[in-house]
Amino acid sequence: MLAKLAGFRLPITSYALQAMVTEPLKPALDTVVLSPGTGAYVSQSDKGEMVIGASLDLFPSYAQRGSFAVLQGIVAATLALFPSFSRLRLLRQWAGIVDVVHDSSPIIGPTPVPGLYINCGWGTGGFKAIPAGGWTLAHVLATGRNHELAEPFQLGRFITGRLIDEAAAAGSRTDDAAHMPVVRIARRERVRLRRHHSPHPAGPCGKRCDLGRIPLLS
Ligand SMILES: Cc1cc2nc3c(=O)[nH]c(=O)nc-3n(C[C@H](O)[C@H](O)[C@H](O)COP(=O)(O)OP(=O)(O)OC[C@H]3O[C@@H](n4cnc5c(N)ncnc54)[C@H](O)[C@@H]3O)c2cc1C
Repeated sequence: MLAKLAGFRLPITSYALQAMVTEPLKPALDTVVLSPGTGAYVSQSDKGEMVIGASLDLFPSYAQRGSFAVLQGIVAATLALFPSFSRLRLLRQWAGIVDVVHDSSPIIGPTPVPGLYINCGWGTGGFKAIPAGGWTLAHVLATGRNHELAEPFQLGRFITGRLIDEAAAAGSRTDDAAHMPVVRIARRERVRLRRHHSPHPAGPCGKRCDLGRIPLLS
């Protein structure tokens, strides 16, 4: 929405990602277990609840509920890992909204609008990666230059096609990716951006914000 107000488009789709917890148990699991094959992951909280999650609800949504069919799939995948959990009752379930980019990688840095910077598209992995995200965004704000770690994560990659395929690292299942509409939209999205000549090319650092020719929407 912010990008639209500013006159450009971000290649982001918002999906619900569900999580759920069971009734509490005595300590039974002292690590996080993740199945790359199904996407299911389980850990035990300090209170004893099993915290469970897995794949995205694969339709764009801002509803913080998630669908029952996906919940069933997550539970089935968890029971494939831990059949004895079938005797547990779920105490609660919810969904949060995650911003997914076509290559499952964040966008960190300047936008086509001088002085407007973004740090988004973290998808399902934003907690663990944000210290590096914050550090590299602070670097570009302070110096006007991208941090070398953030260089590949520029918005311009959706124009040049130099995408970073981190789907496997993000734990995305390959069959999910095949059915994910956003993956098929990716190539079309690139041509929606249009050339723009900013009347205010200088950013806060007094330098022109060069995005590799990312244009604004007209
Ligand atoms: C169930 C679940 C489990 C997850 N598990 C993990 C995990 O184990 N490890 C991990 O690394 N990541 C995990 N994530 C992903 C992580 O939560 C996200 O990647 C991270 O929160 C993204 O941070 P963000 O700041 O980009 O966006 P958000 O955390 O979504 O923050 C965006 C903020 O903007 C606000 N906002 C939106 N629109 C407006 C507006 N118009 N005006 C003002 N404010 C607005 C929202 O209210 C929100 O507070 C999980 C996510 C979910 C939902």
